[in-house]
Amino acid sequence: MNESIRLDSLGTLSDNRLVRQIESLRGKERKVLAGILRHLVEIERRRLYLPRGYSSLFEFCTQHLKYSRSAAGRRIAAARSLAKFPVLERHLLNGEVNLYALSLVSGILTEDNIEQVISGIRNRSTREVEVLVARHRPGRIVRDRIRTVCVMEPEPRKKERDGDDASAAGSTSTWNAGGSNGAGRAGSTPGAGSEKFPNPVFEGSGGNTLERVKISRKYKLEFAVDPEFMRKFERTKTLLSNRCPGGIGFEELFMLLMDEYIDRHSPEGRAARREKRQVRKSHQDRDSTKENGSGNARPVSGGEGKIRSRNIPQRVRDEVFLRDGGKCTFIGSDGRKCESSWNLQIDHIVPFARGGDNSPGNLRLLCGKHNRLEADRVFGSPHMERFRKKE
Ligand SMILES: [Zn+2]
Repeated sequence: MNESIRLDSLGTLSDNRLVRQIESLRGKERKVLAGILRHLVEIERRRLYLPRGYSSLFEFCTQHLKYSRSAAGRRIAAARSLAKFPVLERHLLNGEVNLYALSLVSGILTEDNIEQVISGIRNRSTREVEVLVARHRPGRIVRDRIRTVCVMEPEPRKKERDGDDASAAGSTSTWNAGGSNGAGRAGSTPGAGSEKFPNPVFEGSGGNTLERVKISRKYKLEFAVDPEFMRKFERTKTLLSNRCPGGIGFEELFMLLMDEYIDRHSPEGRAARREKRQVRKSHQDRDSTKENGSGNARPVSGGEGKIRSRNIPQRVRDEVFLRDGGKCTFIGSDGRKCESSWNLQIDHIVPFARGGDNSPGNLRLLCGKHNRLEADRVFGSPHMERFRKKE
C-alpha cells in the first residue's frame, strides 16, 4: 500500500491514516539522516570545511548547516561510527538503532567489539546504551558538559540616567556588563568567544519600558574531577582566604584563576608588562643620567649584520596577535573569514624558506588547521606529509 502523504488538512484524516503517515515520514527521516551522515563522512574525508573558511567539521555544521551544537555533535559522532563500520547504516535505516546511540558508541567501536556493541545497542533504551558505553570506558561516565541557562530579570530602574529616554527606538540593545559578571575584565582575550558567549541583552516591546527585561545568559558547567583536583581546590581556597575571608564561590574562584593565567600568558598581558618595564627603565636611565651628569647611553644591539633566524621574537608574535585580534585570518573561497581562536600559529605569508622575513607585515595568525592547509597549498601535501612524519 503506497498511499501518498497528505500534509494539508491533517484534521480531516482518519486516525489510522494519520498514524500510517507519520510512520512513513519517520522512515523517510531515517533515510535522509543516513544520507546526511554519509555526506558528513565524505566532507570530513575531503576536509571540505577548511577551504570554505571553517576550522572544523563542527563549525561547518553549526554555522553553515545551522545545526544546534548538540545536533551537530551527535551527527558528527554518528557519522564517524558509520565511517568506521558502514554495516551500522542498515540498523539505522530499519530503526533498530537511533542517532543518539550511534553517536554514543562512536568512541568505543573497534574491530574486536563491533558485533558485541551492535547487539548491545539494537532496540535498546538510551539508558541501556549509556551503561554499555560506560562499561567500555570506565572513568568517562560523566561527560564534560556546558549548558545554557537563561535568567530573566526586569530592567533596573535607571531611566533617569543620562536622559536616556530615546532608547525605546529599538527592541533590543546590548547591555555592557560593567564588571558585575567579570565580562569587562582587563584580561579578557580580544574577541575570544564573544559571539559564542554573548553578554546579556535587554529585550522587550520597546514602547513600554516596563515590559523590558534583562535576559542574562548563564552557563552551567558539569565535569567530574579526581581527588587530586579537590586537594588543589581546597589548597587554593585556603591561599585565597585572606583575600576572601567570607569564602569564595566557584564562579569567582575560576574567574580569579583564569584572570591570573591570562594576565601571565596572553600577548596583551605580556605587552602590558613589557610597557611597564620600559617605563620603569626609562625612569631609571633618566635618574642615572642625572646622577652621572652625562648621558652614558649604551649602544642598541641588533641592526646590521643580523643572522637570519626562523625564530620570531615574542614581541613580534604578540604584535601580530594583537593586530589580528587573536583570531585566524584565513579567508575561505566564498569570502568567509575563519576567525577561530583555537591553536593559533604565526604563518609567514612569503614562506621563510623562500626568503620571507619575520617582520609583522609578512606574518599573520592562522589556526592550526588552516596553517596546514596553507603549507599543503604552497609546498604540496606529499612534501608536507614527509616533513610532518619526521617531526
Ligand atoms: Zn582557521
